[in-house]
Amino acid sequence: MQTQVSSPLVEKFAGIVGAAHVRVSDPGDDLSEFGRGHGHTPASAPAIVVSPGTPEEVAAALAVATQQRTAVVTRGAGFSVSGFAFSDADHVTVIETRRLDRVLAVDAENLTVTAQAGVLNSELTRIVAEAGLRVQTVAVPVRRTTLGGALSGVVGGGVPARSSVTGGNVQSVAGLVVALPTGALLRTGAGGSNVHAAHDTFPGLGGPNLTGVFLGDGGILGVKVEATLCLEPLPPATGGAAWVFPGEDAAWGAMTELMGLVDIPYASVGVSPRPQWTLIARVEAGGREALERKTAAIERVATRWGGEAGPEEYRLEAIAMGEPGGAWADVFLNRRREIVAFVAPRAGFRKLYRDLAAHAGSRAEELGLGALISVQPYYAPHTRHAVYTSLSLVLAQQPEDSLAVVELMHDCVRFLTRRGASTEFHQGTSSQLAAAAWSAEYRGAVEALRGAFDPAGILNAGVWRA
Ligand SMILES: Cc1cc2nc3c(=O)[nH]c(=O)nc-3n(C[C@H](O)[C@H](O)[C@H](O)COP(=O)(O)OP(=O)(O)OC[C@H]3O[C@@H](n4cnc5c(N)ncnc54)[C@H](O)[C@@H]3O)c2cc1C
Repeated sequence: MQTQVSSPLVEKFAGIVGAAHVRVSDPGDDLSEFGRGHGHTPASAPAIVVSPGTPEEVAAALAVATQQRTAVVTRGAGFSVSGFAFSDADHVTVIETRRLDRVLAVDAENLTVTAQAGVLNSELTRIVAEAGLRVQTVAVPVRRTTLGGALSGVVGGGVPARSSVTGGNVQSVAGLVVALPTGALLRTGAGGSNVHAAHDTFPGLGGPNLTGVFLGDGGILGVKVEATLCLEPLPPATGGAAWVFPGEDAAWGAMTELMGLVDIPYASVGVSPRPQWTLIARVEAGGREALERKTAAIERVATRWGGEAGPEEYRLEAIAMGEPGGAWADVFLNRRREIVAFVAPRAGFRKLYRDLAAHAGSRAEELGLGALISVQPYYAPHTRHAVYTSLSLVLAQQPEDSLAVVELMHDCVRFLTRRGASTEFHQGTSSQLAAAAWSAEYRGAVEALRGAFDPAGILNAGVWRA
């Protein structure tokens, strides 16, 4: 690691975190790896990268940045799909959280885990699983994302493996510790909303639900340094079901009928053309008998819609879907692609997603990417009320013009936002496009919150700036 202490600001940061944990841009190292996300969005290069090792160090570094009026961007594992929205490319300090990687306590009695925000979601999942328990973070890139990155950069604080049943993580984050730009450490639950409480148990106890305000905020209101999440027992019996249908109407019909059942039989469900329209479902239960009952309930619905049992490999994939730390976690990562992911109400969903797929195809042609890109949909229930979709823009090879791919992704996000859908990524350029649809009152309220937590306006200032 290159370290160079050369300015009063750098000296101040080094005084807090130690010189070994401060990097300064120089002609041989422009630090752009710290301003790059996952995908084609161009990198921005920070001037300084600070890597604090404790929550107190994060808070102290933020206080210095506020005093010096210097822009700060928070970074977890850098898996943002739409880059990092630097406000002032020449003077940004990145605070990266990866040294805050400890799982502090697995509380098997209260069924919670408390962990630092820079821990990789796979590590958190592994440690919790050792106690026979399960934590919700993200469905897919668990090995490449941090807890703080998922809670901040994704709608609802992250889309977990069981989002078909649970939606986002809003209900499962019981409390947060957030370092504010003023230098304060804010506890949103135990120790904050009740100074006599020692344990977080549920979000929103003791006062307004401040925890929720920080979930999916894009990191504009503070730096999450710690989170307490609700756990559940690992299911003793797991299975899978895979059904192929005569067409999309039938697959959609089966999925929506399953969403309407009183006793939801699946832990997660996804529908995609493979090339036949297929529904795969992971099933979980307290024992074999209950598992068989749930699987039979799915079968009844699937056969009513003309479904036939799919190949064994699909069934195995369904079982793997959401297996803590399983190979499924990398399934979307082994391809060159951009993703346009969104949540939309059930009503009108299919027209919206068909229109989007057609729009993506014709825009790809216009941008000279037609021969390179195939548009591949996947959709799933987001609780009973909405549908989650990821539309993959899969590239046959790396295009000469990466910016054309970014423009295609942006164009799809604008298309969706104008039609009332909510895009998944609350980060980078995606957040800026989503914010273009904010009402004046909503914008005013967010700006007021921003001003309250970050009076000098130093933190993630480019995020949500339309
Ligand atoms: C192929 C692919 C599949 C994906 N599938 C899913 C999925 O199934 N479910 C899901 O939920 N997500 C999914 N994601 C999205 C991914 O979880 C998010 O991009 C997540 O934000 C990345 O976490 P990170 O640690 O890399 O964050 P970063 O990329 O480092 O940061 C993302 C945003 O969060 C902010 N931030 C990071 N850490 C903190 C912190 N401690 N405090 C405050 N703000 C912070 C950053 O400033 C930035 O705005 C997917 C992404 C890809 C590329």
